[in-house]
Amino acid sequence: DGPVIIVGAGHGGYQVAASLRQAGYANRICLINDEAHLPYQRPPLSKAYIKGSAGPDSLMFRPEKFYQDQNIELISGRAVSIDRAARKVLLASSETLPYGHLVLATGARNRLLDLPNANLPDVKYLRILDDSESLRQIMPTKKRAVIIGAGFIGLEFASTARIKGLEVDVLELAPRVMARAVTAEVSEYFQERHREAGIRIHLGVQATSIEAEGGKVTGVSLSDGRHLPADLVVVGVGVLPNIELAAEAGLPVAAGIIVDEYLATADPNISAIGDCALFASPRFGGSLRLESVQNATDHARCLAARLTGDKKPYDSHPWFWSDQGEDKLQISGLTTGYDRVVLRGDPAKKAFSAFCYHGDRLLGIESINRAGDHMFGRRLQAMDRSITPEQAADESFDLKSALA
Ligand code: FAD
Repeated sequence: DGPVIIVGAGHGGYQVAASLRQAGYANRICLINDEAHLPYQRPPLSKAYIKGSAGPDSLMFRPEKFYQDQNIELISGRAVSIDRAARKVLLASSETLPYGHLVLATGARNRLLDLPNANLPDVKYLRILDDSESLRQIMPTKKRAVIIGAGFIGLEFASTARIKGLEVDVLELAPRVMARAVTAEVSEYFQERHREAGIRIHLGVQATSIEAEGGKVTGVSLSDGRHLPADLVVVGVGVLPNIELAAEAGLPVAAGIIVDEYLATADPNISAIGDCALFASPRFGGSLRLESVQNATDHARCLAARLTGDKKPYDSHPWFWSDQGEDKLQISGLTTGYDRVVLRGDPAKKAFSAFCYHGDRLLGIESINRAGDHMFGRRLQAMDRSITPEQAADESFDLKSALA
């Protein structure tokens, strides 16, 4: 019992606070927010928000009144240390907050590019609202963007920059785009679609230096000796989980803050959720750290349930999406470890799904412009069922029959 203090007001932090109140938690809830905005949604930062003209309010989960009505104390500031013995969090402002339970929802931060000139103003990253806002403002003044990293965020930004009329080059060290996350079939589809849109994708290369004159970026040199002119560089080379607060408090960390299947750290009064948490997963075996809205919000709901007396291990099924140009990619399940991919639909018709199998076991589905297949995948996995690779490949097989 006692107050619940939540460090980090992103997707996970916001949702714990909201779910606790929904479940009738009556004690004090403080949400420590180190960004200068009300808690907001991150996915549009590289999608609709950066394309459009809507103001920051369009991104907020809830207006300010919600926090007042729900008696959720939004505290502007940064947590700098945890005194576990005294159960207190210290803020940068020197304020201390006592807790009954502490939730670490600190998310992740961008991995920074370690190259000369990488800190010039024309070298941008995309993680927080201020990054997106700044890119939105400078894009109309730029002609040529080089994007370093062909992951989801790099490619989402690349398609937007192209739609806005910029020349766009994307650099990727791996032999295909989004290589860590999707099948070769889906990578190839997107490579082709981005190329059709006029985006130049360079695979198997890395940036070796950023050139500048008078503090302005002029181009990027590549490991294969080429040089690409640019007046804007956007870096999307992955993130690092924010584990330092936990580590300095003596909590076990590895590639994330280590938590068990209930999302509890080694200290029963402290839990960690979302992008920063490396959680034990009985379903998938071993430990996982996922970076998705689904993961952060479902972690939050699971934790809020535990803190209000409904203790269950975290066992939600992963899903994800990415919008690139006119294409919508949706992923259900966790496709790592597949040894067979079966296509349903036709890439040439710009609508297909890659069903990923390990043996005859369906691990997950990557759908492009096939929302029905995606929803089918989510419902099927919720029922712990599978369909055979032959059924998946056969368009005349009625997917609904597998859900009956
Ligand atoms: P975050 O939302 O990152 O929130 C953590 C918060 O904690 C941040 O505000 C941080 O500043 C704060 N914080 C950290 N340390 C402290 C401290 N010491 N004191 C106080 N505050 C602190 N996922 C999808 O599923 N689909 C998408 O399409 C998608 N698109 C994305 C596009 C972009 C541009 C980005 C950046 C991410 C995208 N994601 C997407 C990923 C998704 O947004 C994250 O997985 C999700 O935000 C994780 O939620 P979280 O609460 O764990 O962390």
